[in-house]
Amino acid sequence: METTLEDTGIERKIKESRDYFAQGQSKEVHYRISALKKLRKAIIQNEDAICDALYRDFKKPKFESLATETQFVLAELNFILKNLEWWSKSQKVAGSWSTFPSRDWIQYEPYGSVLIIAPWNYPFQLCISPLLGAVAAGNTVVLKPSEWTPNTTAIIARIISEVFDTGHVSVIQGGVETSQKILTYKWDYIFFTGSTRVGKIIYQSAAKQLTPVTLELGGKNPCIIDKTANVPLSAKRIVWGKFMNAGQTCIAPDYLLVHSTVKEKVITELIRHIERSYGKEISTSPDYARIATESHFNKLVRMIEGQQLLFGGDFNAEDHYISPTLLDEPSAASKVMEDEIFGPILPIISYHTEEDLEEIISRYEKPLAFYVFSNNKKFQKKTMTKYAFGGGTVNDTVIQITNKNLPFGGVGNSGMGGYHGKHSFELFSHKKSLIRKSDWMELPFRYAPYKPFVKLAKWFKHFI
Ligand code: NAD
Repeated sequence: METTLEDTGIERKIKESRDYFAQGQSKEVHYRISALKKLRKAIIQNEDAICDALYRDFKKPKFESLATETQFVLAELNFILKNLEWWSKSQKVAGSWSTFPSRDWIQYEPYGSVLIIAPWNYPFQLCISPLLGAVAAGNTVVLKPSEWTPNTTAIIARIISEVFDTGHVSVIQGGVETSQKILTYKWDYIFFTGSTRVGKIIYQSAAKQLTPVTLELGGKNPCIIDKTANVPLSAKRIVWGKFMNAGQTCIAPDYLLVHSTVKEKVITELIRHIERSYGKEISTSPDYARIATESHFNKLVRMIEGQQLLFGGDFNAEDHYISPTLLDEPSAASKVMEDEIFGPILPIISYHTEEDLEEIISRYEKPLAFYVFSNNKKFQKKTMTKYAFGGGTVNDTVIQITNKNLPFGGVGNSGMGGYHGKHSFELFSHKKSLIRKSDWMELPFRYAPYKPFVKLAKWFKHFI
């Protein structure tokens, strides 16, 4: 049963979102474009303040804030603005004998009032990037950013209130209870980014109202290095993808599967690149972030306890600092191999045969990302097709997220639905099928009495 809409803060925003959609303004393409342009201007004007907020939340380095939050979102915004007018046009499709004579087309229609729930690890990007798609498609939106990055959430709330009419886009701040309350209302679409555990809760709430959902979740992302790989370059790209944002990246490599013949070389190169990136005193590096929440910090520290260290393992509770850490052959039963790590800890596990790989990878649910470092084309193709995962890269990490032509999303336990670029616009649009039938000709075959057409009906497969 849907909760009634009383006039409190949350209820008012949800009601305004519905009413605004019903008014129809958000559906007008030129209105969407002008709202998105206003948002672009506000992000550019506030870019330094957004970076400051991210720094205050978890010491996110300015370069990373620019590259993975503000500039990432601006690139997406420019791409949408460049293409939105023609994406929104109705799409003519071929007719068939059964519709002849007619005009047949697909019309992109917004769903209505959309709820976006975001996590803390890329707190700006993961709120604003789906918002762009939802607004571009003509929806009204209520955003629920993470409670764990209060400075970034505050600036998001301010920008949104300055740019959009409240009914068009608004922000509801709060934690789990707020989120649970919001989920009791009826939405036309829910877009959730976060853990698989909470994703299941969201899916269950949405099912009660038959609300369509996108779930952007996590997983244990394997990263294979075979004996033909360019080890120094592989290590460089793995260190970058793993330790950026202090490992709190949903598509970071979770664990390394290294062919036993190159293991020693891989470890040496990983250490070399960690020190090259962050220096010998990593805790003083301006380029290394902190763990965003205390509970996640504690969980990560427990993952290191009792493990064989190859590098790092230092931490500081006051600062939520955990150094880039390499672990040697943790067992399948260990905490670190039980669940998604989502932090700067990299287990290194050696393998001998492809059967070993299969045995290890198939212990886990379908991951969000998958990486293979190899110069053996046959092996690259085999691994990339054999396993199910959201998306991946051969000979690099993380960069699959940067191509706006590629949908970004998981499969199975790592999620459902994909967004970015035109995929975002399509995700937040219902594809309405429409036919305008002409009067000038009428084929008699479909009407009763059927008797004269029964023989002909056996040929219908050629005409429908
Ligand atoms: P989380 O699931 O704990 O929280 C995400 C959001 O859900 C927050 O806004 C939170 O307030 C809300 N929430 C938490 N518990 C809830 C409940 N019981 N009912 C309703 N709402 C609830 O996730 P997190 O810890 O913020 O983020 C880390 C997870 O997100 C990791 O698993 C990571 O892999 C995943 N992630 C996925 C992507 C992706 O694009 N696929 C991106 C970033 C993070």
